[in-house]
Amino acid sequence: MFRERAEGELSIRNLRIAGPTPLPPEVIAAMQRPMVPHRGAWFRRFVKQLLGRLRVLHRTDGEVFVLPGTGSAGWEIAIVNLLVPGDRVLLLVNGDFGERWRRVAERFGVELIVRTIPYGQAFKAEQVAHWLEELPKVRAVFVVYNETSTGVTNPLPEIAAVVRAAGAVLAVDGVSAVGGLPLEMDAWGVDLIFSGSQKAWMCPPGLVIVGVGPRTWEVIERASYPRAFWDLREYRAAARSGDLPSTAPITHLYALEAAVDLIEGEGLENVWRRHQELAAWFRTAATELGFRCFAEPGYESATVTALEPPPGIPADELVTRLEERHGIAVNGGQGGLKGKIIRVGHVGWVRRSDLEDVIQALALELEASFSSKSA
Ligand code: PLP
Repeated sequence: MFRERAEGELSIRNLRIAGPTPLPPEVIAAMQRPMVPHRGAWFRRFVKQLLGRLRVLHRTDGEVFVLPGTGSAGWEIAIVNLLVPGDRVLLLVNGDFGERWRRVAERFGVELIVRTIPYGQAFKAEQVAHWLEELPKVRAVFVVYNETSTGVTNPLPEIAAVVRAAGAVLAVDGVSAVGGLPLEMDAWGVDLIFSGSQKAWMCPPGLVIVGVGPRTWEVIERASYPRAFWDLREYRAAARSGDLPSTAPITHLYALEAAVDLIEGEGLENVWRRHQELAAWFRTAATELGFRCFAEPGYESATVTALEPPPGIPADELVTRLEERHGIAVNGGQGGLKGKIIRVGHVGWVRRSDLEDVIQALALELEASFSSKSA
């Protein structure tokens, strides 16, 4: 365990950040495939099939598009495709990613009403219903399903129900959720949700995957922000013939197809269950070591766990030690949580032994810190 790293040696042997996540060998192998004409018949069939399978995984009769980009593009995609300037948007912020969505929306001059709750807590449907009652004419609600920065999962089905009852449009940042956490787009009434290839999709970063509900096209047609590269109408028109508006990110799409094979092979609901079980095991083990789970009980994320170290153990130093001494990469806190928490990802291609390894390393580090303090 405690061996010095050789100069230039790749130090990470257990990638436990909240994305990019490790790539399964099948995904790596798929990326070796050759280039093909992206508007040729073979590739068009490939794209059509892949998008169809993604629809099933999003549980929607609407459409799913795969765009070159990363999760952050989703914030802009939602704004320009769902809104008319002047539309009021209720943005729910309980972490750094919600906060970033706010900053993007402000640049577009969106008429925002922001409701922020203390980080670590989850939004409850009753709160949201209350705000929707007291705030007239909210056209859309924006929420982050899984706040990667705090390890909190907001109760999306319940929130979606109250948004739908209020007649508003629901756009969801599902970047660290989709594929790993339960999602029933149509049954819950999610109008638009986006995710990133580098999270539960077990692919390299570089794709933003956008689910569009069946009743969302009306909203998209009405929207009037200037939009070009992110215009979902163009993705829809192209997808009818298995195309993308621009050159397709062919290698990434091969990777995604391999990942979809794996998810289907395991069974989507089994994937969700595996994430929940591993997260529950990890929380218990970390709590037994003296860590405190940062997320409000009952709303802990199944894809990333945020932990406050025991008193006297600096979080950032722990992050450094895990990497330097154990070859395990985890995240520290971001924004105002920097130095206060560590975050351990268990999303995508992850097994129990990967997390046992983290627990063992954390135990050794706590032991080392405590014994050096008492010495
Ligand atoms: N939203 C959430 C919830 C995220 O976790 C992330 C990245 O971790 C993003 C948005 C931004 O995604 P990207 O870094 O792929 O642009």
